[in-house]
Amino acid sequence: MAYNIKETRATASRINEVDINNIVMGHAFTDHMFICDYEDGQWKNPRIEPMHEIPTHPAAMALHYGQAIFEGMKTTLGKDGSPLLFRPDENAKRLNFSADRMGMPLFPEDLFIEGLKRFMAIEHNWIPTSEGSALYLRPFMYADEAFIGMRAATKYKFIIFASPAGPFFSKPIKLWAETKFIRAANGGTGEAKAAGNYAAAIRPTEIARTKGYDQVLWLDARDFEYVQEVGTMNFFLKIDGKWITPNLGGSILAGITRMSVIDLLRDKGFEVSERPITMQEIVAAFENGTLEEAFGAGTAVGIAMVEEIGYKDMKIKFPAENPVSEEVKQTLEKIKHQEIEDKFGWIVPVE
Ligand code: PMP
Repeated sequence: MAYNIKETRATASRINEVDINNIVMGHAFTDHMFICDYEDGQWKNPRIEPMHEIPTHPAAMALHYGQAIFEGMKTTLGKDGSPLLFRPDENAKRLNFSADRMGMPLFPEDLFIEGLKRFMAIEHNWIPTSEGSALYLRPFMYADEAFIGMRAATKYKFIIFASPAGPFFSKPIKLWAETKFIRAANGGTGEAKAAGNYAAAIRPTEIARTKGYDQVLWLDARDFEYVQEVGTMNFFLKIDGKWITPNLGGSILAGITRMSVIDLLRDKGFEVSERPITMQEIVAAFENGTLEEAFGAGTAVGIAMVEEIGYKDMKIKFPAENPVSEEVKQTLEKIKHQEIEDKFGWIVPVE
């Protein structure tokens, strides 16, 4: 379906105010935003406008009851200089999975893609070209009905904005296996990309940092024994030549990098199993010398090698060399920049 997306352009670009090729993610924003309103049971008025603040009623329901979900994606430049999206259909689907879990209206997936493409066609100058950099895209939806009471809101906004982002972790990271706080429980909202999940993770992450760790390694909510995720990344581990990643058992976010990495590893001839992984198993592999590599995988960070896991009073160390993780990281980057063939069909050019 072709949508009528109205465009209002900014009178001047702010791009010269920032060095997009040398920037920490999240501080600078591009000139425009895509925005769409939900009321009377339907999405209305999709439009692109100059980036602006949105007046907020103090009773806007997202602020009180947390109906707020988001996505994270990156766009890069292809060989001919045109913007490329990576598996945007998966983000559109996951946004709706999250919306459904949080009692929010679904957003038409074709409008999500069309909005992204139209937005990127305007903002492509903001895509950094330095190594490891990209333009981060943040589609999100929140309840902006002014109402006090526990029910689904009747008014929402869906917005996409963008922020140029440099490389995240350049060196291997240290993880703190958390045995007091949890991120998500089965039946909860961990499978959804709901804003509240991140609020709950902030304080435990700060505490892990004071102990000298970069990210929390989240364990399961019942036994604090099964490995779940790494900060805002999915977790991959290589023991005795085989790759494993926690299965999506009801509390883990189904990462798009995760599903891509599984395909890449299998394509490189590795066995990859999606199954429960216990801390016991990691400790045993460390002690018997079969612990080989580990990384976190996510859009913002890409692939982040793990050098150590702090668990209770143990320091579980990984070998300094990460040959397979390094290869996966390079392959993913090359696909995203059209430097090698996209044999999986993941890249969607912005026409
Ligand atoms: N887990 C969590 C909790 C996340 O926030 C993210 C980032 N979206 C991921 C995993 C990785 O997902 P993706 O590869 O789709 O970015």
